[in-house]
Amino acid sequence: MAVAEFDLIKRFFASLPQHGRGVGLGIGDDCALLEVPEGQQLAVSIDTLVEGTHFLPGIPAEQLAYRALGACVSDLAAMGAEPAWLTLALTLPESDSDWLEGFSRGLGEGMAQYGLSLVGGDTTRGHRALSLQVHGWVPKGQALTRRGAQPGDSIWVSGTLGDAMAGLDQLQTQADPDPYLLGRFYRPSARIELGLALREIASAALDISDGLLADLNHLLQHQDLGAELQLAQIPLSEVLLDRYSEQQALNWALGGGEDFELCFCVPANRRQQWLEKLPGLSVSCREIGAICREPGLIGVDQQGNRRPMAASGYQHF
Ligand code: ADP
Ligand code: MG
Repeated sequence: MAVAEFDLIKRFFASLPQHGRGVGLGIGDDCALLEVPEGQQLAVSIDTLVEGTHFLPGIPAEQLAYRALGACVSDLAAMGAEPAWLTLALTLPESDSDWLEGFSRGLGEGMAQYGLSLVGGDTTRGHRALSLQVHGWVPKGQALTRRGAQPGDSIWVSGTLGDAMAGLDQLQTQADPDPYLLGRFYRPSARIELGLALREIASAALDISDGLLADLNHLLQHQDLGAELQLAQIPLSEVLLDRYSEQQALNWALGGGEDFELCFCVPANRRQQWLEKLPGLSVSCREIGAICREPGLIGVDQQGNRRPMAASGYQHF
């Protein structure tokens, strides 16, 4: 059923429960009015997803909204920022109320999980696409950036890697996809709690959206550094290893993307502080290697063999 634009905004977006603080004026006026607390910086990130390019046309609207929000909020997590506000630019071929209902539900669920308020947006007609902009806060000077890694820092990742690509593979090849892997693809968890815990610990951090090697390379490039990875330490889920060969699992873990786990560096002088914090976190983290002076990525296998790895993907190895 078609809905008029004004009703659409009111029914599916303005009515969503709001969770972020500092909203002076939200949806309904020409602008939103927002307060950044004293002493905090505003962290802002935007993601655009176009149907057919960034998501499959058949994806249920609820999953699309939840997944897009998780992916976007993951950028706040990677900076050590606390989520506050969301804006949404939505382009739709038609105002289909079933689709909008699902989208609104998924968005509302993610907003509640991450503590966000939807404070404005734009709604237009056209090829289906969405832009989500998230805004968060971080105390001045405490944001985690991609720039601070130093030789000798240990390299860590959260959760398990490769599951999202396996989930996508299940979706495309299996009549009855594995629910865990599918969930890891459809429902990424932005690691906000971890990002906040790393504020005074990590020397550099980012979220893994393109694949571990490609993203780790972003941390190294700024300073012309290298990294040595202990391949046996790359965290792989039991389900992934159960469903796929170890080689395929590692390929996805190193070269696939979309897991939205965090990769971060811990300097030796903050290691003890980090090890004390770690057990209190709800996500597991694994030490997978170290930053070194010589540029390039080196993979070390269980036998101690060292081989260079290409940042573009694991297939060269
Ligand atoms: P304007 O013409 O001034 O840009 P709009 O009619 O586009 O205003 O939007 C009216 C109000 O609804 C604004 O406050 C805008 O931020 C909000 N809005 C429009 N579309 C969305 C959306 N998809 N999600 C959230 N808020 C929206
Ligand atoms: Mg407008």
